[in-house]
Amino acid sequence: MECRVCGEPLAPFMSFGPMPIANGFLAPQDIPLDTYRFELATASCKRCRTFQLIDQPPPDKMFHANYAFFSQTSRVMQDHFENFALDIAQRLLARRDDPFVVELGSNDGIMLRHIAKRGVRHLGVEPSANVAAAARNNGVNTTSVFFDAESAANIREQYGPADVIAAANVMCHIGSIRDVAAGIALLLRDDGVLIFEDPYLGEVIAKTSYDQIYDEHVFLFSLESVRAIFGPHGLSVIDVAPQTTHGGSMRYTLGKTEHHEVSSTVTELEVAESRQGLGDDQTYDRFRQSCEASKAALNRLLGELRGAGKRIAGYGATSKSTTVLNYCGIGPELIEFISDTTPIKQGKVTPGTHISVKPPSCFSEPYPDFAVLFAWNHAAEIIAKEKAFLESGGRFITFVPEVGMIQA
Ligand SMILES: [Zn+2]
Repeated sequence: MECRVCGEPLAPFMSFGPMPIANGFLAPQDIPLDTYRFELATASCKRCRTFQLIDQPPPDKMFHANYAFFSQTSRVMQDHFENFALDIAQRLLARRDDPFVVELGSNDGIMLRHIAKRGVRHLGVEPSANVAAAARNNGVNTTSVFFDAESAANIREQYGPADVIAAANVMCHIGSIRDVAAGIALLLRDDGVLIFEDPYLGEVIAKTSYDQIYDEHVFLFSLESVRAIFGPHGLSVIDVAPQTTHGGSMRYTLGKTEHHEVSSTVTELEVAESRQGLGDDQTYDRFRQSCEASKAALNRLLGELRGAGKRIAGYGATSKSTTVLNYCGIGPELIEFISDTTPIKQGKVTPGTHISVKPPSCFSEPYPDFAVLFAWNHAAEIIAKEKAFLESGGRFITFVPEVGMIQA
């Protein structure tokens, strides 16, 4: 296996073991069909330091016909994307004449509709046809193609060069990131900017939030790796801004240096990454040890509670919970069911570990004694919403940054 960014041979520093598809929730009668596994092993490239999966399942395993990810509709995420659009409008579009904004992986238009309603020329690029149709219904001009150098050239021919290319939680999914970078360089106006955000490697290492590692997240980026990906295409990082979404993300702004000043935030992050040791092999050895300690602690805690006759549920049948449940070997003997608001997941079982997913109405009938917060990145929202659970004596269990009860 070679680095997807620089071609250096990759060696894994750890494996989370055989893993099913993270979003492969299945009907109980299909449990005998739940046989596909891939090895979830991770590497940090010794040359460019891009953190990546060794193997990624083939796309037809991950994005089967009935898979359609619609942007999370929580208030917090809606607000986040409205603010993302505001950041683009105020910081990047001001003083531009008839600007053109392109968003890659624009989903149902959760961000771009705020650009559209300002009357700004825009185009969403969303490969999933039914999601693209939803975006068009939201008034967002959307094309349903995969983004690469060829489609970038077509877009430029039809619309002209882009002033801004945006992406949120998209780049980290694309194994062929070099093709995407080439397409961006082709489509971007000389003084244009690329702005994108993804879960941040430094946060994952700091919090041992290894559940960010699953099939769809082929990369976890750092400043160093973003530079390695886009530098060869003449794009420099000119600004960085940490985000609280997805348990800790980074928003990178890139452009050609001759057209932009580099913010001091970039130097600050460079220093912070060096201090954290994101370029050192020992950091990843320590991360592996932290994951193993977290796994042991979670099993110990759940085992003790079950041994004392306590009822434990899960909260949020997230894709990332698949890594935790399978890596730790946690099944229905420890977690009775997982409560989730997504109708398509209700009545199904978790991939690999076969824990039932039930609607929130089951969560309170009656409340369990404990609930493992798989959606820990939404902890504040959930704790506010589940006052009655806490008042009934229920407690949330987390494993990020450490295994333990959440003090409400
Ligand atoms: Zn590399």
